[in-house]
Amino acid sequence: MTPDSTELWFLPLGGCGEIGMNLNLFGHDARWLMVDCGVTFEQGVGGNRVQMPNPEFIADQKDTLVGLIATHAHQDHIGAIHLLWQQFRCPIYATRFTAHVVAAKLRRAGYHAPITVVEQDAQIQLGPFSVRWLPITHSTPETSALLIETAAGTIFHTADWKVDHQPVVGRAFDDQSWQNLGSCPIDAIVCDSTNATETGHSLSETDLLPGLHQAIAEAPKRVVVACFASNVARLQTIGNIAAASGRYLATLGRSLNDMVASAKASGYLLDNFDVIPPHDLGYLPPEEVLILATGSQGEANAALNRLAHGTHPELELEPLDRVIFSSKTIPGNESAIRQLTDALRDLDVEVIEGANSQLPIHASGHPCVAELQHMYQWIGSPLAIPVHGEAHHMAANADIAKRCGVAQQLVGRNGDLFRIRPTPGIYRQAVAAGRLELRPNGALVEV
Ligand SMILES: [Zn+2]
Ligand SMILES: [Zn+2]
Repeated sequence: MTPDSTELWFLPLGGCGEIGMNLNLFGHDARWLMVDCGVTFEQGVGGNRVQMPNPEFIADQKDTLVGLIATHAHQDHIGAIHLLWQQFRCPIYATRFTAHVVAAKLRRAGYHAPITVVEQDAQIQLGPFSVRWLPITHSTPETSALLIETAAGTIFHTADWKVDHQPVVGRAFDDQSWQNLGSCPIDAIVCDSTNATETGHSLSETDLLPGLHQAIAEAPKRVVVACFASNVARLQTIGNIAAASGRYLATLGRSLNDMVASAKASGYLLDNFDVIPPHDLGYLPPEEVLILATGSQGEANAALNRLAHGTHPELELEPLDRVIFSSKTIPGNESAIRQLTDALRDLDVEVIEGANSQLPIHASGHPCVAELQHMYQWIGSPLAIPVHGEAHHMAANADIAKRCGVAQQLVGRNGDLFRIRPTPGIYRQAVAAGRLELRPNGALVEV
C-alpha cells in the first residue's frame, strides 16, 4: 500500500475514535510523514496501564518515513516517542519547549535521537512534504498546527487547539492570520473534536485568575493546587497569585519539576515563579504556603495522593489546609479521584473542585462549537476529517463542518485510510491498528 505522486493520504494509527495515543501518518509519493506519537492510560488493577498505537505498519517500512513532528508536549502526543523511536529511528522535529520535553524522555530511555528544534513559524521541506508550522493556542506552550503541502494537494492539520486571545504564556490566538490562511488552497482540514459537543466558547487562561486568586486568598492555612504539569500558563497564574498574596511557592512531583525546567529553559515562567525547596515547607507558617502538586487524576504514586495518605516525605497536611483541583476529570479516573478527595476530607482538608467553586478554576484546551465554526469558516476547505475524539465527538464535529459549508466530511477510525487527493474517500480498515502495552519490566506487548 503505497501512495503515488498524484495521491495524498491520511492514515491515523491512533487517536481517531478515541481521546488519547495520537499517531497520524500523511502519505504522498511513496513517502510517509508521522505527526505525533502518544500514549493513553487504561484503568487496571493496581493503577493505570500505559498503552500506545502498534506502529507495525510504518516500522516495517521505516525507510519511507521522512520524519516525526511533535505538535505539542502532551502525553497523548509525545508520550510514546521514547518507547517506540528505536522502531523508526527517524529524525524528530519540534519547537523549543516541546523538543526539550521530548529530549529529556529520550535521554532517560538511553537514546540519542536527532531532534531538530524549529521556529514557531518555520517552513521545512521533509521529503515530498513542505511543512509550515502555525502557532496555535492550546493548554501547553508552543502548540503547532501544520500546513502540509505536496505536489498532489494540501492538508491543514489543526493539532489540539482553542481560541485563546489572552493565553497568559506564549503567543495569543491571532484571528487575522487564520483568516489569511483561508486564501491558501487547502484540500482537507484534519480537526480536533474533543469539545465538539460543548456549545459556546472555551474560557481563556486569563479568565481563571479571579477564581483561583479568591480560592487561595480566602484559605486560612496551606493551599495545594493540583493541575496538569504541562499547563505552563496555569503554573504562571499560580506563581502570580503566590507573589501577590505573600505566600511561598513550592512544587511537589517529578513531572511538575521536569515541566518547570523545560519551561524555564525555553524562556517561559517569570522571575516571580520562584520556588522554595520542599524540605522548607514543614517550617513555614501554613498561611504563607502555596504548593503546586501533581496527581489531579488520583494517580497512586503522585504527590497529592501521598499527601492525602500522610506518606509524603516532605509535608503532612493538617485540618483547614485546602486543596484546589484546577483540572478536569479525565473519563475513567472518576473513582481514583473520589478515593483521593475522600482521603483528603478524612484529614479535614477542604477540597475545592470546579463543581463547588463559584468562579471558574479550570479552562479546557479544546475548541467548543463557536470556535470550530470560526475555523471552518476561515479556512474554507472542501473536506473535513474530524479526529481526536470518540465517535460521538467526531460525528458532532462533522455536523458543525457541514453546517459551516464544508462540502464533504469523512468520519472514520484508526486504521482507516483517508484518501484526500485525487478523489476523496475512505478505505475502511486498510491497516491493522492495534495497541501495545508497556509492562513493568519495560517490554511492549500486543493487547
Ligand atoms: Zn491531545
Ligand atoms: Zn493537547
